[in-house]
Amino acid sequence: LPTVAIIGRPNVGKSTLFNRLVGKRLALVDDQPGVTRDRREGEAHLLDLDFRVIDTAGYEDEDAATLPGRMRTQTEAAVRDADVALFLIDARAGITPLDEEIARWLRVSETPVVLVANKAEGRAGEAGVIEALALGMGDPVQLSAEHGEGVADLFEALLPHCERIEQENAEAEEDDSPDAPLKLAIVGRPNAGKSTLINRMLGQDRLITGPEAGITRDSIAIDWEWQGRRVRLIDTAGMRKRARVQEKLEKLSVADALRAVDFAEVVVLLLDATKGLEVQDLKIADTVLREGRALVIALNKWDVAENASSLFNGVKGALDEGLAQVKGVPLLTVSAATGKGIDMLIKVAFETRDAWSRRVSTGALNRWFERAMEANPPPAPGGKRIKPRYVTQAKTRPPSFILFGTRVDLLPESYRRYLINGIRREFGFGAVPVRLTVRAPR
Ligand code: GDP
Repeated sequence: LPTVAIIGRPNVGKSTLFNRLVGKRLALVDDQPGVTRDRREGEAHLLDLDFRVIDTAGYEDEDAATLPGRMRTQTEAAVRDADVALFLIDARAGITPLDEEIARWLRVSETPVVLVANKAEGRAGEAGVIEALALGMGDPVQLSAEHGEGVADLFEALLPHCERIEQENAEAEEDDSPDAPLKLAIVGRPNAGKSTLINRMLGQDRLITGPEAGITRDSIAIDWEWQGRRVRLIDTAGMRKRARVQEKLEKLSVADALRAVDFAEVVVLLLDATKGLEVQDLKIADTVLREGRALVIALNKWDVAENASSLFNGVKGALDEGLAQVKGVPLLTVSAATGKGIDMLIKVAFETRDAWSRRVSTGALNRWFERAMEANPPPAPGGKRIKPRYVTQAKTRPPSFILFGTRVDLLPESYRRYLINGIRREFGFGAVPVRLTVRAPR
């Protein structure tokens, strides 16, 4: 179900709206640690829309001095978990400085916002509705949560969001399923053997190959099966425009990689073993990782490689040194010409996607987190104590984590690295890119 968060300063009518939406269905209290302790969630029904609703009213009993800080934490946590935020203002009271501040927080979040002017029954709310335009969030939905007026307008405002989210959820579910086709792209410099490899994988001469660098081909996405599992192969070489100058081509292979990451879950960077690793290859690899895609590197033409083991170790070393953000990216050897190593390459590509799609429970994550903090307590830059509270996985594909706590924004890069590498090791993310962002309440 889509998730809708009700946001707003105290007394604008959040709980009244929550109760109206949830009706008799009992609101449950979330038992997550820290900030979310006192929020209510329930299943809402609005005409023929069903969604989950989060009420953030719990902080209102708190000490007034700490209210803005706690409110911000609450609001941000709720908005992060929600697909849409209902931002309530009080039409009778007009816009207050706190409303303006909340609007600022909401503007920087990625969650879409529906502005709602509550207590709009009768005429006493008219001035407030006009004032609300100044928030720059469009025309407010005029509502009276108490009297049940404006429900149809609220429905209309939420409908497109709910429809879009349901569509996205359905698509994400399809992508998340281990049975979904593996979206694979093969990138690399001209003549690395990309087309030969694809032909070999497919077992047929579908693409034109030849010694001439950068032959133009049509763009192709090919669906096929490997040992009963579906693969959708994206041939980026096919998307490359004809270019005569070698230098231009080299630039284009980075552009290819960028285009590939738009489609692919796993990107195979193909290297020519007779040429070794070049700066250009590192650039491509770095681009793929920075875009959050899973990367596998394959040394092709292994059938004609000389000094195999020193070549392999040399490339391995150069990769670990050159790709500072992720060590241990899988490096495999293949021969597109003979087919040797291809089974292993596809097997590793599937495993890499599994890691890239993995979700870790908040419980397991925080049990590890406690130990990690004990083993290596966070520093106190300039004597200021940083108090990380908890970590949660916000997203998969790539695995993305959020760290909450006091002044965590002051954590040095080295400590963030420590946490990222810890997560990577503890939960088997291997060498897929792992993201960590921090949120400190103010
Ligand atoms: P692309 O530009 O990356 O698509 O490269 P191609 O697939 O067109 O291959 C470039 C050249 O390398 C062709 O002459 C291929 O026959 C040759 N080649 C590709 N893979 C191998 C391999 O595994 N071993 C050997 N010996 N040659 C290969």
